[in-house]
Amino acid sequence: MAIFAEYIWIDGVKPTAGLRSKTRVIYESDVPKSTDIEDVTQIDMSWFPVWGADGSSTEQAAGDDSDIVLKPVSAVRDPFRPGHYLVMTEVFVGATNEPHDSNTRADVRAVLDAGAAKADALFGFEQEYTFVHPAGRPLGFPERGFPAAQGPYYCGVGANKIVGRPVYEQFMARCLEAGVHISGVNWEVMPGQAEVQVGPLGPLMGGDHIWLARWILERTGEDYDVGVSFEAKPAKGDWNGAGMHTNFSTAAMREEGGIAAIEEACVAIGKKVDEHLAVYGHGYQDRLTGHHETARYDQFKYGVSDRTASIRIPRHVAENGCGYLEDRRPNANADPYQIAARLLRTVCGID
Ligand code: ADP
Ligand code: MN
Ligand code: MN
Ligand code: MN
Repeated sequence: MAIFAEYIWIDGVKPTAGLRSKTRVIYESDVPKSTDIEDVTQIDMSWFPVWGADGSSTEQAAGDDSDIVLKPVSAVRDPFRPGHYLVMTEVFVGATNEPHDSNTRADVRAVLDAGAAKADALFGFEQEYTFVHPAGRPLGFPERGFPAAQGPYYCGVGANKIVGRPVYEQFMARCLEAGVHISGVNWEVMPGQAEVQVGPLGPLMGGDHIWLARWILERTGEDYDVGVSFEAKPAKGDWNGAGMHTNFSTAAMREEGGIAAIEEACVAIGKKVDEHLAVYGHGYQDRLTGHHETARYDQFKYGVSDRTASIRIPRHVAENGCGYLEDRRPNANADPYQIAARLLRTVCGID
């Protein structure tokens, strides 16, 4: 028998990278060890050979030297093909065997190796997204004009407020079937907009599971002819943007009295505003306006329970004296690996 392994990679498109994937059929006879390849609970990365792709079609190589290398790094169950797998890969340059420029996961590995691993960091990403008609207009937005003003949509219920519920439900179920570690979902402030929370997970797995969740979300949408936009400001004007609030902690922050480490981290992050914004996603200036529950991108501040701050310390964290911080600035279209690498560099003093 054989299995289907859907090899997923992140492309080189700028300013916002997207997802690509293709299917490898793996025959049991080709697997190095005779482990039970059909037992989805026992995923063994050695089943998945190094593979390649045409980098000239993904903005990762020139046509006359087009082979890129896909190295499997983690895998989950494929919820669309029961008994099969989704395989996350890193992209390498064929000629040199070095990580490709677009391979930001390799940066996370480098930062961990440079000393950040001992911080034992955890990440919880709040991935917001917007359902869109294939032509681009957000779900719930009429062909001409606008829907009723924001207010009733956030965590709403009812056909006059919520559009896209079947995709949202299927997506959540498929994340669980896959083994993607989500911790909740909710409808958002703008019509057609929703959020999924991923984590808390370590820096590599947190990024893997965000990208896998994005793939599962877009793939689920195909079955309903609904697109997904991760744009930071999909509707201009008095409509909320889409972010990816990043909840972050180190072991020191989670221990008793960790609030001191949390405040220290806020101060350190405040000294590197530009370095952080550079990896917080294309179009952050349109979203971080100082309105719609954001702090202006050029006005850094942090505070307890403050949803107008760049970094919020949740009230329960301040009360317990330990826990985590929430950087509210990353966009929905940001790369979780770059966010993780940047936070670790700043907070662990690696530069
Ligand atoms: P909000 O009130 O900002 O909407 P959410 O409930 O949507 O908050 O998201 C909170 C996130 O914080 C979740 O993704 C959760 O996994 C994450 N989280 C919880 N504890 C920690 C921690 N110690 N370190 C990092 N992330 C955490
Ligand atoms: Mn949230
Ligand atoms: Mn939200
Ligand atoms: Mn939040």
